[in-house]
Amino acid sequence: MGALKRATVPAFAKVNLGLEVLGVRADGDHELRTIFQSVALHDDVALVVGPGDGLELRCDAPGVPTDERNLAWRAAADLLRFTGLRRRVRIGLTKRIPAAGGLGGGSSNAAAVLFALDRLLGTGLGPAGLVPLARRLGADVAYFLFGGTALGVARGDEIYPLARQVDAWLTLCFPPTGASTAAVFRRIDAGLTPRENAPTIFRFVSSDLTAGAYRLLVNDLEAAALEEVPELEAQVVRIRGVLRSRGAWGTLLSGSGSTYFGVFETAVAARDAARELGRAGFRATSCRTVTGGRYRRAWERALTGEGRRAR
Ligand code: ATP
Repeated sequence: MGALKRATVPAFAKVNLGLEVLGVRADGDHELRTIFQSVALHDDVALVVGPGDGLELRCDAPGVPTDERNLAWRAAADLLRFTGLRRRVRIGLTKRIPAAGGLGGGSSNAAAVLFALDRLLGTGLGPAGLVPLARRLGADVAYFLFGGTALGVARGDEIYPLARQVDAWLTLCFPPTGASTAAVFRRIDAGLTPRENAPTIFRFVSSDLTAGAYRLLVNDLEAAALEEVPELEAQVVRIRGVLRSRGAWGTLLSGSGSTYFGVFETAVAARDAARELGRAGFRATSCRTVTGGRYRRAWERALTGEGRRAR
C-alpha cells in the first residue's frame, strides 16, 4: 500500500427516547431495554491511513485523553489487530458533543472509526461484521454502527433498527451538574428508587411515534439520577417547565444524564425553547433527529469520492 487514504466522518450524538432497567445479568451488567435516537449534533472524526506502523490521535477538546484511554484509539487498535494489517493510522477528533452528557460521544467516535477504517483498509466487514468488535469496546458502540431510531436490548448492545424512524426536532439542555453513572445504577440495584416497571418502550415502538406516544416514555435512570443529585433535580424541574410550556411532546433525561431534552414537532418550537433556556441561564441547543437512512448516507458521502476530494 503506497498512497495515503483519508476520510472525515460525522460521529452523531444519540439520546435515549426511553430506557428500562430490567435487572442485573449473570455477568454483572444490567439488562436494559432502550430506544436510541441519533441527532444532528456531531463530532468529526478524520482518519488518515498510510504505509508504516503506529497509531496517533489528536483532539481539539481539552480533557479528552489522546491515548489508549480514548475509545476511538482503541477502536482503531482493535480493528488493526483483528485484520492483522500493518498500517500507520492518524485520527483527528473535532469535538462538539459535550463530554459525559449521556449523548454517547466517545462510543460514537469509536463506531465512526470502525466503519471508516474498515473501508479505508478495504477489509469489507461492514457494520454487521463490525458488531462483535463494537460490543467489546462498550455497550453503546454497536448502536452507533447503524444509527437512526433503534431498539437496544440485552446490555443495550443488541440492536434492532426500527422500521418506523422518528423525524422530529429536539431541544438539548446541558445542566452544569450531573450524577455519576455508577452511582445511579447503585441506587437502582439497592432499590433506593422505585421504578415504574411498565412496558412503555414496546408500547412506544408499536405506536405512530407522534405526539401522544412520547408521553409514554420513561427513563428508569432519571428518578435515580435526580435523587442522587438534588441540585440536578432542581435544575431539571426548571428545564422541564420551559420545555413543556413550549409544547414539547415529551421530555426526558438522556441515559444517566445530565443532558435533558424535549421532543418537538417543528424546528421553530425547538429553537425557541432553546433560546428561552438560554435566557434562563442554561446551555441549550436545538437540532433535528437523524433517521437511519440519513445516517448511512452521511457516512457513505464521507467515504466516496466527493467527501474525500473535498479535504
Ligand atoms: P455515555 O452516554 O455512553 O455514557 P457520555 O456521553 O456520558 O457517554 P462520553 O462523552 O463518551 O460520555 O465521555 C465519557 C468519558 O469518556 C470522558 O470523560 C472521556 O474521558 C472518555 N473518552 C474516551 N474516549 C472519548 C472520546 N473519543 N470522546 C470523548 N470522551 C472520551
